[in-house]
Amino acid sequence: MGFSGWRVLREGLTGNKGWGPHWRDPAPKSDYDAIIIGGGGHGLATAYYLASQHGMTNIAVLEKGYLGGGNVGRNTTIVRANYFLPGNSEFYSHSLKLWEGLEQELNYNVMLSQRGQVVLCHSDGQRDALVRRGNAMRAQGDDAELLSTDQLRRLLPYLDYDNTRFPIYGGLLQRRAGTARHDAVAWGFARGADRRGVDLIQNCEVTGIDIEAGRVVGVQTTRGAIRAKKVGIAVAGRSSQVAAMAGMRLPIESHVLQAFVTEGLKPCIDHVVSFGMGHFYISQSDKGGLVFGGDLDMYASYAARGNLPMQEHVMEAAMTLMPMIGKARLLRSWGGIMDMSPDGSPIIDKTGIEGLYLNAGWCYGGFKATPGSGFSFAHLMATDQPHDPAARFRLNRFRDGVGLMDEEGTGSQHNLH
Ligand SMILES: Cc1cc2nc3c(=O)[nH]c(=O)nc-3n(C[C@H](O)[C@H](O)[C@H](O)COP(=O)(O)OP(=O)(O)OC[C@H]3O[C@@H](n4cnc5c(N)ncnc54)[C@H](O)[C@@H]3O)c2cc1C
Repeated sequence: MGFSGWRVLREGLTGNKGWGPHWRDPAPKSDYDAIIIGGGGHGLATAYYLASQHGMTNIAVLEKGYLGGGNVGRNTTIVRANYFLPGNSEFYSHSLKLWEGLEQELNYNVMLSQRGQVVLCHSDGQRDALVRRGNAMRAQGDDAELLSTDQLRRLLPYLDYDNTRFPIYGGLLQRRAGTARHDAVAWGFARGADRRGVDLIQNCEVTGIDIEAGRVVGVQTTRGAIRAKKVGIAVAGRSSQVAAMAGMRLPIESHVLQAFVTEGLKPCIDHVVSFGMGHFYISQSDKGGLVFGGDLDMYASYAARGNLPMQEHVMEAAMTLMPMIGKARLLRSWGGIMDMSPDGSPIIDKTGIEGLYLNAGWCYGGFKATPGSGFSFAHLMATDQPHDPAARFRLNRFRDGVGLMDEEGTGSQHNLH
């Protein structure tokens, strides 16, 4: 089933009766060339690129719930490439380029909206840091513009510029940044993988990883044992638990991150805006809701919901930056389980067990990484060689200390990244 303007028109005129399921519902086979654990954005993208780039089609994605029910369907949908450090910079730059061709690649509307993201600064020191970041982005080949307060007043007139506690000194704009429809990204990759023969198996929890003589040979699941020559772990907030099935202890802590959406409003915020003095950022969805988020709840947890103190903190930050938001009514809040790494940067690497690969440590920034992560993880799994843009995402950096990428400069405490 292909999508086109003509098809949408025809279905619209004939009662939308011609649409079929986007993917099959196969029973697991006893044996695959490769298995991906986790049907989130990263697992599905990996399966898609394994099939499309490397011709591997005897593969399965095993998902314990339903496809896209994890963080990929819970995030605040921001896509950007404004990283500073070597390692992150080239990876997210590559990922943004993949985003820009994704709808054509998948023949699926992921609603990428490059509406621009502005990161605000509130002191001279912060402005210097943004100048450096902008230079690094441009050196990487991405776009970045430093905006003065006057330029910002014209672009974002609803902010409180004269707040005496946090006056706005300027901002860094990336015009190619923006948002995408989060669950459509999961569905698009799922459909693309399914069309190439990948088995997407839902309600199939991996409960054990089978290893013989230092080599992975398969997995145990709630739907029986499945043999595989290669196994990739892409389970985000559950990374430590699944890796423990292979006897590994990961440098990952799981923390809750919340997000919020208001009732639908007429268009009023046409960019993504990030407050520089608190972890608050906001955009407006196509349905009109103001979508915003804040910081981690600051305690390790596997509960996909958060608590009131962080909600209060986020609302205060919102009111400080844009007092007009006080008129909007909050509709919903939710949480997701973040796989926090000690330096805030991810891992795409082999493990000490032959044939077992790890994709983890995305903290709260893994949605924008979805295509890049899938592309690089597929490359690693298919060729056993790291993909260049992700070559620095080594697991061993936490053991030997070489190549740590502390993007935020906050040290090694998981909940501060
Ligand atoms: C509130 C919030 C806001 C965010 N905002 C942004 C943002 O604006 N921009 C951005 O770039 N990132 C953002 N993120 C982060 C981003 O969503 C994640 O980093 C990214 O989605 C993680 O990768 P994933 O999609 O593969 O994870 P998931 O969708 O969580 O996929 C992992 C899957 O593994 C499955 N699984 C777990 N254990 C097993 C098992 N034993 N067997 C089988 N399956 C298993 C889970 O059910 C899940 O479906 C946000 C996250 C949250 C929670």
